[in-house]
Amino acid sequence: MKAPAPLPRALDLIGNTPLVRLAGPSEAAGCNIYGKCEFANPGGSVKDRAALWIIRDAEARGELKPGGTIVEGTAGNTGIGIALVANALGYKTIIVMPDNQAREKMDTLRALGAQLVLVPPTKFANPGHFVHTSRRLAEETEGAIWANQFDNIANRRAHIDSTAPELWDQLEGRIDGFTCAAGTGGTIAGVGLGLKEKDENVRIALTDPHGAALYNYYANGELSSEGSSVAEGIGQGRITANLDGAPIDTQFRISDEEGLTWVARLLKEEGLCLGLSSGINVAGAVALGRQLVADGRTDARVATILCDSGFRYLSTIFNAQWLRDKGLPVFDWLRD
Ligand code: PMP
Repeated sequence: MKAPAPLPRALDLIGNTPLVRLAGPSEAAGCNIYGKCEFANPGGSVKDRAALWIIRDAEARGELKPGGTIVEGTAGNTGIGIALVANALGYKTIIVMPDNQAREKMDTLRALGAQLVLVPPTKFANPGHFVHTSRRLAEETEGAIWANQFDNIANRRAHIDSTAPELWDQLEGRIDGFTCAAGTGGTIAGVGLGLKEKDENVRIALTDPHGAALYNYYANGELSSEGSSVAEGIGQGRITANLDGAPIDTQFRISDEEGLTWVARLLKEEGLCLGLSSGINVAGAVALGRQLVADGRTDARVATILCDSGFRYLSTIFNAQWLRDKGLPVFDWLRD
């Protein structure tokens, strides 16, 4: 008798996410726009992949020992991914987070058993910044490692090894463009490098929110920013180690209003409830699709990342008062 195939373990649920064709964005772009459903990861975001790769890399290098602690500074999603992977592998988690992030993420981290340290939001140059605070805590804690997602390239390796080949297979080796926004830059750099390995003609675009410095950097070599954004998890002011050498061919800058328009349309027209970084990514994918079509690549196939679920932002972008306080438009169906 044939032995039954072994069932996957919980950690095997990270990655291999579905890819969906997005009807409204495809129509708007005049070609095919696809979204990689990263909200389907066990921790609910694209960052589960980075968490798993960073932890496995630290184990392989002998830095992380049994029963050790992982310390990280994060806008939330990386912390959630780390906490789950750490629980599965018998490690402890300490997460440092700016105190202006969505309440849902803080509650989730506590619920998962992570020790949560909240700090006021500050500029990167300030020693109290959540990234520097997390590094110091790691240095002071016995048996701890600092995950260092911004400058630890095991982060982008996750996307070179898993996200890019998955996209390639799901689109049967025919992909014309890829775009997403950068937080650490692990996703855009890793998927970009991984896809270029397969086909150097795939056009890689950075989609930047307002208030971030990368649009200007890729457009004219200057790290400078204009405006601001309420999007969580994206918007970078420097070239992190993960971004270093990223094969960026072109760049778009997308406003929160435009991102929110896509969040609303994807929810009402396609039944996908997503966070704002996904809306900004989809707006970027539509811009990239139009550019490819204008360059004669009709019928182009463009992929982007649906980073996390809107359920993580009920108190922010799905809250009419919060939106009004930020001067942003309120979704029609939430107006009272
Ligand atoms: N969207 C959300 C909601 C995130 O939490 C993150 C992670 N910071 C990103 C996008 C960007 O991913 P990356 O860090 O790989 O650039």
